[in-house]
Amino acid sequence: MATRIATIPRKDWKRPSARRVQAVRQRLRELYGIPVIGPHGDPLGELVLTVLSQSTNDRNRDVAFLRLRSRFASWEEVRAAPVAEIEAAIRPGGISKVKSQRIHDILEAIGDPLDLEWMRDAPLAESQAYLCALPGVGRKTAACVLCFSFGLPDVPVDTHVSRVCTRLGLLRPGAPFEELHNELARITPEGAALEFHMNLLRHGRRTCHARSPGCGGCALARMCPSRAI
Ligand code: SF4
Repeated sequence: MATRIATIPRKDWKRPSARRVQAVRQRLRELYGIPVIGPHGDPLGELVLTVLSQSTNDRNRDVAFLRLRSRFASWEEVRAAPVAEIEAAIRPGGISKVKSQRIHDILEAIGDPLDLEWMRDAPLAESQAYLCALPGVGRKTAACVLCFSFGLPDVPVDTHVSRVCTRLGLLRPGAPFEELHNELARITPEGAALEFHMNLLRHGRRTCHARSPGCGGCALARMCPSRAI
C-alpha cells in the first residue's frame, strides 16, 4: 500500500530561504557526497545523449550512444548520413525511428559550425533560448546540456528531482514545468547545479520514492514538511 505523506497545500507554500536551501544541500552532501565527475565539456554529445535517453533506461541509452559514436567518425558524418543508418546504429535505445529523425533534424538545425562550445561563455538565457528552439528540444534537455557540459546554473528537473523538491517545500506544489526549472535554477546555491541535481536525483531513487517514500528512515525527515507521520 502507498505511504500517505502530508502534501503541502498550494496556498501555504512560500519560497524557501537561502539558508533552508543550503541546509538541504548540506544534508544531501552528508548522505551522498559531492559528485566526483565534473562537467564533461561536450554539449553536442550531451544533447544527442539526452534525445537517446527518452523512454528507455540508462544502459540502453548508453549502448545506443556508443554505437552511434563508433559507427560515425564525427557529428558531421552523422548529419550527412541517411536517417536509416542513424536509426540502425541507435536501435538498442528504443523508438529509434523517432530518435534518429530527431537527431538528424537537430544537427541540421545547428548548421555550421556544428559546435555548441560558444555556450560555455554565453549569457545563460541566450543558450537556453537557442537550445529550446531546436527541433524537439525542451527546457529539461536544455538544462541537461548546460549543466552537465559546463556546470552552468540550470538544474534539470526530472520526475525524481521535481518530486523530492516539492515534498521538501523547495518548489511550489503543482507548479508548471517551466516554473519548476526557473525556480530551481533561482534557488540553487552558486556553483552547485550539478551537485544539487545529482543528489536530489539519488534521494528520489533511493528513499523518496513516488508511491512509498521511506520517510521512517529518511535523513531529511526532520526538515521535510511532507514526511509521513
Ligand atoms: S521525509 Fe524524506 S522520504 Fe519522506 S517525503 Fe520527505 S524527503 Fe521524501
